[in-house]
Amino acid sequence: MTPRRIAAPLLLALLVQLVQVALAAGPARAAEPDNVTRPSVSGPGTLGTTLTADPGTWTGEDLTFAYQWLRDGDPIGGATGTTYEIRAADVRTRLAVRVTASDPTDPGAPGTATSERRWVPAVPTTTVLRAPERTTARETITLRVRVAAGPVDGPTGTVVVYDGRTRVKGERLRPGHLGRIEVPVRVRTKGVHHYQVRYEATGPTTSSRSERVAVTADPAYVTRKRVIGRSVRGRAITAWFRGDPEAEHVLLLLGQMHGDEPAGPRTAWHVRDHLRPKSGTALWVVPTMNPDGAARHTRRNARGVDLNRNWPTSGWTSAGKGSRYWGGPRPASEPETQAMIAFLRKIKPDYIASIHQPLYAIGRSGQDVAWERRLSRNLNLPRKHLGVGTPSGKVSPTMTGWYNARLGGHGVATTIEYGYSPTTHYVTEVAGKGTLRAALVY
Ligand SMILES: [Zn+2]
Repeated sequence: MTPRRIAAPLLLALLVQLVQVALAAGPARAAEPDNVTRPSVSGPGTLGTTLTADPGTWTGEDLTFAYQWLRDGDPIGGATGTTYEIRAADVRTRLAVRVTASDPTDPGAPGTATSERRWVPAVPTTTVLRAPERTTARETITLRVRVAAGPVDGPTGTVVVYDGRTRVKGERLRPGHLGRIEVPVRVRTKGVHHYQVRYEATGPTTSSRSERVAVTADPAYVTRKRVIGRSVRGRAITAWFRGDPEAEHVLLLLGQMHGDEPAGPRTAWHVRDHLRPKSGTALWVVPTMNPDGAARHTRRNARGVDLNRNWPTSGWTSAGKGSRYWGGPRPASEPETQAMIAFLRKIKPDYIASIHQPLYAIGRSGQDVAWERRLSRNLNLPRKHLGVGTPSGKVSPTMTGWYNARLGGHGVATTIEYGYSPTTHYVTEVAGKGTLRAALVY
């Protein structure tokens, strides 16, 4: 053996002994807490606002933390909390927090670490102290605004709120506000709004702008009643709105044109009172457009006109006076038809479901086959051509004929014919939900 080979085992034995000594000393002298992620401060960082310290993360367990706020690296007297309100002396300096972490079982060995420095900008500053992250369209939110104007206690001027590039609100800032004001803002539309507050100064300060704050508005849900016209006898023709006033997807459910067909209004009332269209969609319900006929249980209106033959199309005819199907003296001669035409031109529904009895069918128009199929399946009614005796090449003088010819680019109108005496369960649950689901609003 060479001397070198003898030395190796000896060295190893020595090393083992040294490690054992070190381990034996361990419990009496714990390692000091080591900083893993730096302390940090959060907050707007402007005059009059509050900074909050986060101690960061450290090695060791059950540590206690002490805080010292620093201005340009020097301790600020008395500033030893987890929060610090920025005061005038801090303007145009850099603030930081120094964190001291101690292990209570070994107070002699603390660790320290300091956050990054935060620059306190020159005055004035305009800050949105509080705004909701989420709201509902058409609601009014409150923006809590702070205008910090350095040595000026109560800056004066105007606080103006912009939604994107649009000025939506202006409030006078008076000396008594002491730079703090709550500005109510009506959120007009659904979607994300980026609000910015601009302080337009009067007096010894200059103007400034806040950061933009994002507020997300969910679709509104509105219920509304509208009288869309009057019958020959002066009865109101009423439409009820349910849903999002900004909806791009709207169903009109017309319960009745013929006063001797009583089932459709029951569906309309059920839908109006019990079903809520899903978010972002909307529903109009007109239980009857023939209130005079409904009052007397007659098909025709008070002047003996079939309101579903009175629509101004190429197929309109004045023939058949006195019959159940008289189209009236002129196209759209009846106030009920006129009211409905004006209403449809205004709201332009995506889907119109017009309920009749008793032919037991979904009217086939070919305008939107998928919608007709959904109706057929949901309401358990076969799709059929429902002819009204109009010569070929002419447009039927019916509401569906008129709408699909005139406003077919906006939507589709379809006739639903229940049977003679559908059950209550059918006209409410089955047909109500089934129609709304077919129109993709439920
Ligand atoms: Zn009918």
